[in-house]
Amino acid sequence: MEDCVFCKIIKGEIPSNKVYEDDDVLAFLDISQITKGHTLVVSKKHYDNFLTTPKELMHHMMDVAQTIGQIQIKELHAKGVNIISNCYEEAGQSVMHFHIH
Ligand code: 5GP
Ligand code: ZN
Repeated sequence: MEDCVFCKIIKGEIPSNKVYEDDDVLAFLDISQITKGHTLVVSKKHYDNFLTTPKELMHHMMDVAQTIGQIQIKELHAKGVNIISNCYEEAGQSVMHFHIH
């Protein structure tokens, strides 16, 4: 989708620090890095949020988020992680392209 920052990252028009990639999903470091290792798991196809994404793709993204969280704990020695997805502006969503933090 035009004017979507995550679609631009997926197309390579905006650089990102990639953590994981497959045919349907890209994971990269959040630009803010308020917490070290803050990663975004993003669907390559544009859907607005968790609630509007087809279940099979959403499940696959949750699998990827779980694996990244497991690696952060086991390999990177994080003491804890949050796994969240904000849906709609009122709930804190600032980029209207489905992503899991
Ligand atoms: P939301 O507020 O929608 O839940 O999360 C959007 C996240 O995207 C924010 O944490 C923000 O820091 C991150 N973000 C916004 N623009 C960019 C960008 O251009 N590159 C990267 N890596 N992260 C971004
Ligand atoms: Zn998009």
